[in-house]
Amino acid sequence: MSHVIVVGAGQAGASLVARLRAKGFDGRITLIGEEPFPPYQRPPLSKAYLLGEMERERLYLRPESYYAENDIDLRLGAPVTEIDADAQTVTVAGETLGYDDLVFATGSEPRRLPAAIGGDLDGVLLVRGLRDVDAMGPRFARGARVLIVGGGYIGLEAAAVAAKRGLSVTLVEMAERILQRVAAPETSAYFRALHTAHGVDIREGVGLDHLTGTDGAVTGAVLTDGSSLELDFVLVGVGILPHTALAQAAGVTIENGIKTDAHGRTSVANIWAAGDCASFPWRGQQLRLESVGNAIDQAECVADNILGAECAYDAKPWFWSDQYDVKLQIAGLSTGYDRIVVREGDGDTVSHWYFSGETLLAIDAMNDPRSYMVGKRLIEAGKSPSPEAVRDTSTDLKALLKA
Ligand code: FAD
Repeated sequence: MSHVIVVGAGQAGASLVARLRAKGFDGRITLIGEEPFPPYQRPPLSKAYLLGEMERERLYLRPESYYAENDIDLRLGAPVTEIDADAQTVTVAGETLGYDDLVFATGSEPRRLPAAIGGDLDGVLLVRGLRDVDAMGPRFARGARVLIVGGGYIGLEAAAVAAKRGLSVTLVEMAERILQRVAAPETSAYFRALHTAHGVDIREGVGLDHLTGTDGAVTGAVLTDGSSLELDFVLVGVGILPHTALAQAAGVTIENGIKTDAHGRTSVANIWAAGDCASFPWRGQQLRLESVGNAIDQAECVADNILGAECAYDAKPWFWSDQYDVKLQIAGLSTGYDRIVVREGDGDTVSHWYFSGETLLAIDAMNDPRSYMVGKRLIEAGKSPSPEAVRDTSTDLKALLKA
């Protein structure tokens, strides 16, 4: 009987095994996860779950019983420590298992602050997994002073939760502006104003020089502009790195993550990759995305290809972020844009449309699901409305789809 082993029981791994069974695969499936929890969704970890507004069970992608009912051998709390690609075996918890197809769905891990600047002090925390967030809960006491390092989505979401829970929040971003890597100045300005209105002290163009501590626990920070802060704890959100070490040790080519072809195959026979850990060819580059949508779609594509479909992965990037009462929805990739068109809506509703010349690349929609849906459909269909029509609020957005 054919045996598929999936290393990593997160969003991609869970999607892949479910797809295999849904498509009628009746061979053996083993899903191996290092964490002790059944596959769960991470986005609420920096949103509703951190806020205390979501039960843990609701994080789980499927009830734990699903795996046994579908004859999926789910092994939890069990890191895969070695892969022998010639013998087609993996080693997990001292046991050696043979595979016909192996999938890396190992995700990513957050960058840490170096120990030399105090990154190893007690109270310097990361928002990556359920364990991290459960452990940080008691520190979110009203009045506690927190420094958030990094003004990307995770840092900003954590800042919103901390401010809502009554903490005193300072956020430093060493780039010129928050969200600089991923969004236009207009989107940065929107979120800067939102956080400032909620009392968050946002400092842009300022990095962390070093942390200070007493008895091994963080008590303060010195910033690159020479200013200093007294602190109770620090949250670090300075980006992630794909989990590639195991794949690399197995002889798999690494290029911006585990390199795959359009079908999700790595450089080694019968080994595939999907999700945060995998890069794939996209418009002349080897792209890697860090999003739920990508993890699901790519994993399902790989499952289909394991079953012989030979389908090429056609990424349709989308993403979201919740901060206070604002839902940000993003479609497309803004890289290479040269113009932003702002479409004002009612109240706090607004959307930012990214163009390169006359070509629509991406949209950021703030509390504006209608613009988001139209923008997403246009981008996916390769259609570009005129920037003037987008800006003109008398334009019926749905009509743009028919044009
Ligand atoms: P993961 O879900 O990270 O799963 C990988 C799993 O592999 C992990 O459980 C890991 O422990 C396991 N693993 C690694 N190595 C081994 C090994 N050797 N043996 C066994 N197991 C191993 N995306 C969005 O689209 N929208 C959002 O709003 C959003 N918010 C986020 C908020 C937070 C706090 C975080 C951390 C992420 C967020 N993301 C968001 C990103 C999204 O969660 C990831 O892109 C998605 O989880 C990727 O799925 P994955 O399966 O590739 O990786």
